Amino acid sequence: MSTPHLAWYSHEICFWHDPGSGSGYVPVGPGIEPLRQFAVDPDLRRAEGLVKASGVQDRFTCVTPTPATDEDLLLVHTPEHIERVEATSAIGSGDAGVYAHVNYHSAQAARLAVGACVQAATSVLEGRFDRAYCLVRPPGHHAEPDRAMALCLYNNVAVAARAAQRHGARRVLILDWDVHHGNGIQRTFYEDPDVLYISLHQDGLFPAASGLVTETGAGAGAGSTLNVPLPAGSGHDAYLAAVDRLVEPAARAFRPDLILVAAGVDASGHDPMGRMMCTSRTFHAMTSTLCRLADELTRGRIVFAHEGGYSAWYQPTLVLGTAAAIAGLPAPQDPFLHSLDHLPGQRLQRHQDRVITHLETHHPLLSRTASDVPSAALSDAPSATPSAAPSPGGGR
Ligand SMILES: [Zn+2]
Repeated sequence: MSTPHLAWYSHEICFWHDPGSGSGYVPVGPGIEPLRQFAVDPDLRRAEGLVKASGVQDRFTCVTPTPATDEDLLLVHTPEHIERVEATSAIGSGDAGVYAHVNYHSAQAARLAVGACVQAATSVLEGRFDRAYCLVRPPGHHAEPDRAMALCLYNNVAVAARAAQRHGARRVLILDWDVHHGNGIQRTFYEDPDVLYISLHQDGLFPAASGLVTETGAGAGAGSTLNVPLPAGSGHDAYLAAVDRLVEPAARAFRPDLILVAAGVDASGHDPMGRMMCTSRTFHAMTSTLCRLADELTRGRIVFAHEGGYSAWYQPTLVLGTAAAIAGLPAPQDPFLHSLDHLPGQRLQRHQDRVITHLETHHPLLSRTASDVPSAALSDAPSATPSAAPSPGGGR
């Protein structure tokens, strides 16, 4: 395609959301000295600063989003859930759900995060832009229709998918490469045949027992959920193999009108929340592939939305790698690459390959054999847990 038009959505208020005093993801309480909780955003502001300083942001048109309306939020969420987020935030502190702490600015930040994703999707569908990146907080993919969860207040990408359908897109592909499973996105669309949800995540990380290979959709949505629970320690080659062998063929089989990517960067080798090995090269390569896939399938229409990312020092470089790929630029300088790229976990290992091979041959969307007898075929699914894997010496 000709040079794509790129949009960058961000808003200062998103950086003002702060879950309050705590340590990591746990609020202050017995045994917890005050430090800070994750998803406070000096780090994300630094990420935007690096993209700006590198000159990459100059390739984008910067757009200031407006807050999502109640009508937008109600596409996915219940009125009671919206009221709880608003009321808890108005008090200035507290948990709006399950490990979803807020401050006074959080309700507005969350509406702006959703608004950015909705407006990015709409703009892309209208042809004003081809590709968009939304640097938003709070994240969204754990938020369920009726509750906030794990730092996520509203489900930014899920609402954007529904808004895209309201705007005329019939079929939407959501790819989620945040290291955690996007339970909220999965639950929203589990019985919907017109939204294909694909998640690449660390097996068994969070939520517990969520994102299994056997969770493939239900009812009319049977086959429209594709979970790829990669074993802890998976790195560059495993992620690229999953994209090449699962995401690409599934997308071609599904034929979406729009692609949305829940583009968390917490699968990096320096992230404190996961145990994966990805580098900025991984995110650059995956983003490039998805943009090519959009050129092939959706006339280039694709929106990336930030989700998790908790390494104070590495997150900016990972966002830059993603942004550079959206802009069609080479992978940027990565001063941290030397600490990760030589490690053996970067090569595809046999126990990682086994998960991908299983899905290639058994997922209803990828295997005609499995679609004939899905329950029988899926009953022999590997657990994909490291304990079930062959010995580490079994492959590279
Ligand atoms: Zn995450």
